[in-house]
Amino acid sequence: MPQKTVDLQLRAALAAVPAYKPGKPPAEVPGLEPYKLSSNEHFLPPLPEVIEALTDIPNPAQYPDATAGALIGELANYLQVPADHVTVGAGGAEVLMALAHITLEAGTEVIYPWPSFELYPQASAVNAAEQKPIALTPEFKHDLPAMAQAISERTRLILLCSPNNPTGPSISNDEFEAFMAQVPSDVLIVLDEAYWEFNTDSTAVDGLAATKKYDNLVLVRTFSKAHALAGFRIGYAVGNPQVISTLRKALVPFGVTQPSQNAAIASLRNVDQVLDRAQSIATARDEFAEALRAQGWYVPEAQANFVWLPLRDLSAAFEEACLAQSLAVRNLIDGVRISVGPPEGMQRVLKVAADFRHQHYRS
Ligand SMILES: *Cc1c(COP(=O)(O)O)cnc(C)c1O
Repeated sequence: MPQKTVDLQLRAALAAVPAYKPGKPPAEVPGLEPYKLSSNEHFLPPLPEVIEALTDIPNPAQYPDATAGALIGELANYLQVPADHVTVGAGGAEVLMALAHITLEAGTEVIYPWPSFELYPQASAVNAAEQKPIALTPEFKHDLPAMAQAISERTRLILLCSPNNPTGPSISNDEFEAFMAQVPSDVLIVLDEAYWEFNTDSTAVDGLAATKKYDNLVLVRTFSKAHALAGFRIGYAVGNPQVISTLRKALVPFGVTQPSQNAAIASLRNVDQVLDRAQSIATARDEFAEALRAQGWYVPEAQANFVWLPLRDLSAAFEEACLAQSLAVRNLIDGVRISVGPPEGMQRVLKVAADFRHQHYRS
Protein backbone atom coordinates (compact mmCIF):
# COMPACT_ATOMS: atom_id res chain seq x y z
CA MET A 1 0.00 0.00 0.00
CA PRO A 2 1.30 3.48 -0.81
CA GLN A 3 1.86 5.48 2.34
CA LYS A 4 0.08 8.77 2.81
CA THR A 5 2.14 11.53 4.37
CA VAL A 6 0.80 12.66 7.70
CA ASP A 7 1.27 16.31 8.41
CA LEU A 8 1.31 16.74 12.17
CA GLN A 9 2.78 19.38 14.40
CA LEU A 10 5.33 17.43 16.43
CA ARG A 11 8.14 18.35 18.79
CA ALA A 12 11.29 19.38 16.93
CA ALA A 13 13.39 17.43 19.47
CA LEU A 14 12.14 14.16 17.99
CA ALA A 15 14.34 14.66 14.93
CA ALA A 16 17.32 13.87 17.17
CA VAL A 17 15.90 10.57 18.45
CA PRO A 18 17.91 7.68 16.97
CA ALA A 19 15.88 4.93 15.29
CA TYR A 20 16.08 1.53 16.95
CA LYS A 21 17.82 -1.02 14.75
CA PRO A 22 16.79 -4.54 15.71
CA GLY A 23 19.23 -7.44 15.37
CA LYS A 24 18.94 -9.86 12.46
CA PRO A 25 17.47 -13.35 12.86
CA PRO A 26 19.90 -16.28 12.34
CA ALA A 27 19.73 -18.44 9.19
CA GLU A 28 17.87 -21.72 9.52
CA VAL A 29 20.49 -24.38 9.00
CA PRO A 30 19.25 -28.00 8.88
CA GLY A 31 20.74 -29.96 11.76
CA LEU A 32 21.92 -26.83 13.62
CA GLU A 33 20.08 -25.66 16.72
CA PRO A 34 19.73 -21.86 16.44
CA TYR A 35 21.05 -19.75 19.35
CA LYS A 36 20.00 -16.19 20.08
CA LEU A 37 23.03 -14.52 21.65
CA SER A 38 22.01 -11.00 20.69
CA SER A 39 19.90 -9.55 23.53
CA ASN A 40 21.73 -10.44 26.77
CA GLU A 41 18.78 -12.54 27.82
CA HIS A 42 19.21 -15.39 30.29
CA PHE A 43 19.52 -18.61 28.30
CA LEU A 44 17.67 -20.51 31.03
CA PRO A 45 14.02 -19.99 31.99
CA PRO A 46 13.23 -18.28 35.34
CA LEU A 47 13.56 -20.39 38.52
CA PRO A 48 11.00 -23.23 38.94
CA GLU A 49 9.66 -21.35 42.00
CA VAL A 50 8.85 -18.41 39.71
CA ILE A 51 7.07 -20.62 37.16
CA GLU A 52 5.16 -22.18 40.06
CA ALA A 53 4.05 -18.74 41.32
CA LEU A 54 2.78 -17.96 37.81
CA THR A 55 0.28 -20.82 37.80
CA ASP A 56 -1.78 -18.72 40.21
CA ILE A 57 -3.10 -16.21 37.66
CA PRO A 58 -4.56 -13.00 39.15
CA ASN A 59 -7.87 -11.79 37.70
CA PRO A 60 -6.85 -9.86 34.55
CA ALA A 61 -10.00 -7.73 34.85
CA GLN A 62 -8.46 -6.03 37.86
CA TYR A 63 -5.64 -3.51 37.92
CA PRO A 64 -2.38 -4.54 39.55
CA ASP A 65 -1.38 -3.21 42.97
CA ALA A 66 -0.66 0.40 42.02
CA THR A 67 1.90 0.85 44.78
CA ALA A 68 3.54 -2.52 44.08
CA GLY A 69 3.65 -2.63 47.88
CA ALA A 70 4.46 -6.31 48.31
CA LEU A 71 7.23 -6.24 45.70
CA ILE A 72 8.73 -3.03 47.07
CA GLY A 73 8.58 -4.49 50.58
CA GLU A 74 10.41 -7.60 49.36
CA LEU A 75 13.01 -5.47 47.58
CA ALA A 76 13.52 -3.23 50.61
CA ASN A 77 14.06 -6.30 52.77
CA TYR A 78 16.49 -7.78 50.28
CA LEU A 79 18.45 -4.54 49.84
CA GLN A 80 18.26 -3.65 53.54
CA VAL A 81 16.93 -0.15 52.86
CA PRO A 82 13.67 1.54 53.96
CA ALA A 83 10.78 0.95 51.50
CA ASP A 84 10.61 4.64 50.53
CA HIS A 85 14.11 4.31 49.02
CA VAL A 86 12.79 1.99 46.29
CA THR A 87 10.40 2.23 43.36
CA VAL A 88 9.63 -0.07 40.44
CA GLY A 89 8.86 0.43 36.76
CA ALA A 90 8.17 -1.47 33.54
CA GLY A 91 11.77 -2.57 33.15
CA GLY A 92 14.90 -0.62 33.90
CA ALA A 93 14.09 1.08 30.60
CA GLU A 94 10.99 2.80 32.02
CA VAL A 95 12.91 3.82 35.13
CA LEU A 96 15.73 5.31 33.03
CA MET A 97 13.23 7.16 30.83
CA ALA A 98 11.52 8.57 33.92
CA LEU A 99 14.87 9.70 35.38
CA ALA A 100 15.50 11.59 32.14
CA HIS A 101 11.98 13.09 32.32
CA ILE A 102 12.49 14.49 35.83
CA THR A 103 15.80 16.15 34.98
CA LEU A 104 16.08 17.05 31.29
CA GLU A 105 14.49 19.67 29.09
CA ALA A 106 15.58 22.06 26.36
CA GLY A 107 18.59 24.11 27.45
CA THR A 108 19.95 21.41 29.78
CA GLU A 109 22.75 18.91 29.28
CA VAL A 110 23.21 15.22 29.86
CA ILE A 111 26.53 13.38 29.99
CA TYR A 112 26.90 9.67 29.28
CA PRO A 113 29.67 7.28 28.20
CA TRP A 114 29.81 6.07 24.61
CA PRO A 115 29.51 3.32 23.38
CA SER A 116 27.00 2.41 26.04
CA PHE A 117 23.30 1.56 26.36
CA GLU A 118 21.37 2.74 23.32
CA LEU A 119 18.52 4.00 25.47
CA TYR A 120 20.68 6.86 26.83
CA PRO A 121 20.70 8.93 23.61
CA GLN A 122 17.01 8.16 23.09
CA ALA A 123 15.95 9.21 26.60
CA SER A 124 18.09 12.34 26.27
CA ALA A 125 16.83 13.29 22.81
CA VAL A 126 13.09 12.95 23.54
CA ASN A 127 13.63 15.40 26.37
CA ALA A 128 15.38 17.88 24.04
CA ALA A 129 18.55 17.93 26.15
CA GLU A 130 21.96 18.65 24.71
CA GLN A 131 23.91 15.40 24.68
CA LYS A 132 27.53 15.02 25.68
CA PRO A 133 28.54 11.46 24.89
CA ILE A 134 32.05 10.88 26.28
CA ALA A 135 34.24 8.36 24.47
CA LEU A 136 35.35 5.30 26.42
CA THR A 137 39.05 4.74 27.14
CA PRO A 138 41.09 2.46 24.83
CA GLU A 139 40.22 -0.37 27.29
CA PHE A 140 36.52 0.37 26.63
CA LYS A 141 35.97 1.70 30.16
CA HIS A 142 34.25 4.93 31.25
CA ASP A 143 36.59 7.90 30.99
CA LEU A 144 35.39 9.36 34.28
CA PRO A 145 37.91 12.24 34.43
CA ALA A 146 36.70 13.35 30.97
CA MET A 147 33.09 12.97 32.08
CA ALA A 148 33.76 15.16 35.14
CA GLN A 149 35.51 17.71 32.89
CA ALA A 150 32.41 17.87 30.68
CA ILE A 151 30.15 19.07 33.52
CA SER A 152 28.82 22.60 33.01
CA GLU A 153 26.28 24.89 34.67
CA ARG A 154 23.65 23.31 32.47
CA THR A 155 24.39 19.67 33.34
CA ARG A 156 21.40 18.04 35.04
CA LEU A 157 21.99 14.32 34.57
CA ILE A 158 24.97 11.98 34.27
CA LEU A 159 24.47 8.34 33.32
CA LEU A 160 26.97 5.66 34.33
CA CYS A 161 26.76 2.00 33.37
CA SER A 162 28.61 -0.63 35.42
CA PRO A 163 29.28 -3.17 34.00
CA ASN A 164 29.00 -1.24 30.73
CA ASN A 165 26.68 -2.54 28.00
CA PRO A 166 27.93 -3.34 25.33
CA THR A 167 31.65 -3.29 26.14
CA GLY A 168 31.82 -5.18 29.47
CA PRO A 169 34.12 -3.49 32.05
CA SER A 170 32.79 -2.24 35.37
CA ILE A 171 33.66 1.04 37.09
CA SER A 172 36.11 0.65 39.98
CA ASN A 173 35.28 2.01 43.40
CA ASP A 174 38.31 4.30 43.34
CA GLU A 175 37.38 5.74 39.94
CA PHE A 176 33.82 6.26 41.11
CA GLU A 177 34.78 8.00 44.36
CA ALA A 178 37.22 10.31 42.56
CA PHE A 179 34.46 11.16 40.09
CA MET A 180 31.80 11.84 42.74
CA ALA A 181 34.19 14.21 44.50
CA GLN A 182 34.05 16.43 41.40
CA VAL A 183 30.29 16.32 40.78
CA PRO A 184 28.13 19.19 42.09
CA SER A 185 25.57 17.89 44.61
CA ASP A 186 22.63 19.18 42.53
CA VAL A 187 23.45 17.03 39.49
CA LEU A 188 21.67 13.67 39.43
CA ILE A 189 23.97 10.69 38.91
CA VAL A 190 22.34 7.50 37.66
CA LEU A 191 24.32 4.31 38.11
CA ASP A 192 22.86 1.66 35.81
CA GLU A 193 23.63 -1.74 37.33
CA ALA A 194 21.51 -3.91 35.02
CA TYR A 195 24.26 -6.56 35.07
CA TRP A 196 25.64 -6.22 38.62
CA GLU A 197 24.84 -9.85 39.53
CA PHE A 198 27.38 -11.08 36.95
CA ASN A 199 30.19 -8.80 38.11
CA THR A 200 33.12 -10.69 39.63
CA ASP A 201 35.57 -7.77 39.77
CA SER A 202 36.06 -7.17 43.50
CA THR A 203 37.36 -3.63 42.88
CA ALA A 204 34.06 -2.59 41.23
CA VAL A 205 31.91 0.12 42.79
CA ASP A 206 29.16 -1.18 45.08
CA GLY A 207 26.25 0.94 43.92
CA LEU A 208 23.98 0.06 46.80
CA ALA A 209 26.55 1.11 49.39
CA ALA A 210 27.21 4.29 47.40
CA THR A 211 23.52 5.34 47.48
CA LYS A 212 23.84 5.53 51.27
CA LYS A 213 26.64 8.04 50.88
CA TYR A 214 25.37 10.25 48.04
CA ASP A 215 21.87 11.78 48.02
CA ASN A 216 22.21 12.68 44.33
CA LEU A 217 22.89 9.08 43.29
CA VAL A 218 20.19 6.74 41.99
CA LEU A 219 20.74 3.09 41.22
CA VAL A 220 18.86 1.39 38.37
CA ARG A 221 18.53 -2.39 38.36
CA THR A 222 16.38 -4.93 36.57
CA PHE A 223 14.83 -8.39 36.74
CA SER A 224 15.45 -8.79 32.99
CA LYS A 225 18.96 -10.19 33.06
CA ALA A 226 20.06 -12.31 36.05
CA HIS A 227 16.47 -13.08 37.11
CA ALA A 228 15.59 -14.27 33.57
CA LEU A 229 12.40 -12.16 33.49
CA ALA A 230 13.04 -9.84 30.50
CA GLY A 231 9.61 -10.55 29.02
CA PHE A 232 7.87 -9.50 32.22
CA ARG A 233 9.27 -5.95 32.30
CA ILE A 234 10.32 -5.23 35.89
CA GLY A 235 13.02 -2.77 36.86
CA TYR A 236 13.68 -0.72 39.97
CA ALA A 237 15.42 2.35 41.31
CA VAL A 238 17.12 2.77 44.68
CA GLY A 239 18.00 6.16 46.10
CA ASN A 240 17.16 9.05 48.35
CA PRO A 241 13.40 9.03 49.21
CA GLN A 242 12.94 12.57 47.90
CA VAL A 243 14.35 11.58 44.49
CA ILE A 244 12.33 8.36 44.54
CA SER A 245 9.04 10.15 45.22
CA THR A 246 9.81 12.68 42.46
CA LEU A 247 10.65 9.83 40.12
CA ARG A 248 7.22 8.27 40.78
CA LYS A 249 5.60 11.36 39.21
CA ALA A 250 7.14 10.40 35.87
CA LEU A 251 6.42 6.66 35.97
CA VAL A 252 3.35 5.24 34.23
CA PRO A 253 0.65 4.26 36.77
CA PHE A 254 0.12 0.48 36.98
CA GLY A 255 3.23 0.02 34.83
CA VAL A 256 4.20 -3.32 36.37
CA THR A 257 1.53 -5.99 35.87
CA GLN A 258 0.38 -8.22 38.73
CA PRO A 259 1.88 -11.43 37.23
CA SER A 260 5.17 -9.52 36.88
CA GLN A 261 5.05 -8.32 40.50
CA ASN A 262 4.31 -11.87 41.67
CA ALA A 263 7.11 -13.34 39.55
CA ALA A 264 9.62 -10.80 40.86
CA ILE A 265 8.62 -11.56 44.47
CA ALA A 266 9.05 -15.30 43.91
CA SER A 267 12.44 -14.73 42.28
CA LEU A 268 13.63 -12.53 45.15
CA ARG A 269 12.56 -15.11 47.72
CA ASN A 270 14.98 -17.48 45.96
CA VAL A 271 17.64 -14.92 45.22
CA ASP A 272 20.48 -17.20 46.34
CA GLN A 273 19.69 -19.48 43.40
CA VAL A 274 19.53 -16.48 41.07
CA LEU A 275 22.99 -15.39 42.23
CA ASP A 276 24.36 -18.95 41.91
CA ARG A 277 23.17 -19.11 38.32
CA ALA A 278 24.69 -15.68 37.63
CA GLN A 279 27.98 -16.99 38.99
CA SER A 280 27.87 -19.95 36.57
CA ILE A 281 27.26 -17.56 33.69
CA ALA A 282 30.20 -15.44 34.87
CA THR A 283 32.42 -18.54 34.84
CA ALA A 284 31.25 -19.48 31.32
CA ARG A 285 31.84 -15.85 30.25
CA ASP A 286 35.43 -15.88 31.56
CA GLU A 287 36.16 -19.18 29.79
CA PHE A 288 34.67 -17.89 26.55
CA ALA A 289 36.63 -14.61 26.73
CA GLU A 290 39.86 -16.50 27.48
CA ALA A 291 39.28 -18.87 24.56
CA LEU A 292 38.80 -15.87 22.24
CA ARG A 293 41.97 -14.24 23.58
CA ALA A 294 43.82 -17.51 23.00
CA GLN A 295 42.75 -17.26 19.34
CA GLY A 296 44.39 -13.83 19.25
CA TRP A 297 41.38 -11.51 19.69
CA TYR A 298 41.45 -8.41 21.83
CA VAL A 299 38.55 -8.82 24.28
CA PRO A 300 37.90 -6.04 26.81
CA GLU A 301 37.37 -7.05 30.42
CA ALA A 302 33.96 -8.76 30.53
CA GLN A 303 31.96 -8.34 33.75
CA ALA A 304 28.38 -8.90 32.54
CA ASN A 305 26.72 -11.82 30.69
CA PHE A 306 28.27 -10.91 27.34
CA VAL A 307 31.60 -10.39 25.61
CA TRP A 308 32.52 -7.50 23.30
CA LEU A 309 34.61 -7.80 20.17
CA PRO A 310 35.63 -4.34 18.92
CA LEU A 311 35.74 -5.38 15.26
CA ARG A 312 35.09 -2.00 13.66
CA ASP A 313 34.87 -2.45 9.84
CA LEU A 314 34.64 -6.21 10.18
CA SER A 315 31.64 -6.17 12.54
CA ALA A 316 29.02 -6.75 9.86
CA ALA A 317 31.07 -9.55 8.26
CA PHE A 318 31.46 -11.27 11.63
CA GLU A 319 27.74 -10.96 12.31
CA GLU A 320 26.99 -12.52 8.90
CA ALA A 321 29.43 -15.38 9.56
CA CYS A 322 27.61 -16.09 12.83
CA LEU A 323 24.14 -15.82 11.28
CA ALA A 324 25.13 -18.35 8.60
CA GLN A 325 25.85 -20.81 11.44
CA SER A 326 22.45 -20.09 13.00
CA LEU A 327 23.93 -17.83 15.69
CA ALA A 328 22.38 -14.42 16.30
CA VAL A 329 24.89 -11.94 17.76
CA ARG A 330 24.56 -8.16 18.03
CA ASN A 331 26.41 -5.89 15.63
CA LEU A 332 26.28 -2.37 17.09
CA ILE A 333 28.42 0.74 17.48
CA ASP A 334 31.68 -0.51 15.94
CA GLY A 335 31.70 -3.98 17.41
CA VAL A 336 29.89 -7.23 18.03
CA ARG A 337 28.35 -8.18 21.37
CA ILE A 338 27.94 -11.87 22.11
CA SER A 339 25.68 -12.89 25.00
CA VAL A 340 26.61 -15.95 27.05
CA GLY A 341 24.39 -18.85 26.00
CA PRO A 342 24.50 -22.61 26.46
CA PRO A 343 27.91 -24.33 26.06
CA GLU A 344 27.09 -25.71 22.55
CA GLY A 345 26.31 -22.17 21.39
CA MET A 346 29.57 -20.77 22.76
CA GLN A 347 31.57 -23.60 21.20
CA ARG A 348 30.02 -22.83 17.84
CA VAL A 349 30.85 -19.13 18.16
CA LEU A 350 34.46 -20.06 18.95
CA LYS A 351 34.60 -22.16 15.79
CA VAL A 352 33.17 -19.29 13.69
CA ALA A 353 35.64 -16.87 15.34
CA ALA A 354 38.62 -19.13 14.60
CA ASP A 355 37.59 -19.53 10.94
CA PHE A 356 36.95 -15.79 10.69
CA ARG A 357 40.41 -14.94 12.01
CA HIS A 358 41.99 -17.34 9.61
CA GLN A 359 40.11 -15.77 6.70
CA HIS A 360 40.48 -12.09 7.61
CA TYR A 361 43.74 -11.79 9.53
CA ARG A 362 45.88 -14.60 8.04
CA SER A 363 47.67 -15.00 11.36
C1 LIG B 1 18.94 -4.52 29.80
C2 LIG B 1 19.40 -3.22 30.33
C3 LIG B 1 18.60 -2.42 31.15
C4 LIG B 1 17.22 -2.73 31.59
O1 LIG B 1 16.44 -3.37 30.67
P1 LIG B 1 14.93 -3.67 31.02
O2 LIG B 1 14.64 -4.92 30.28
O3 LIG B 1 14.14 -2.51 30.56
O4 LIG B 1 14.83 -3.85 32.51
C5 LIG B 1 19.12 -1.23 31.64
N1 LIG B 1 20.35 -0.85 31.32
C6 LIG B 1 21.15 -1.59 30.56
C7 LIG B 1 22.52 -1.12 30.28
C8 LIG B 1 20.70 -2.79 30.01
O5 LIG B 1 21.49 -3.49 29.22
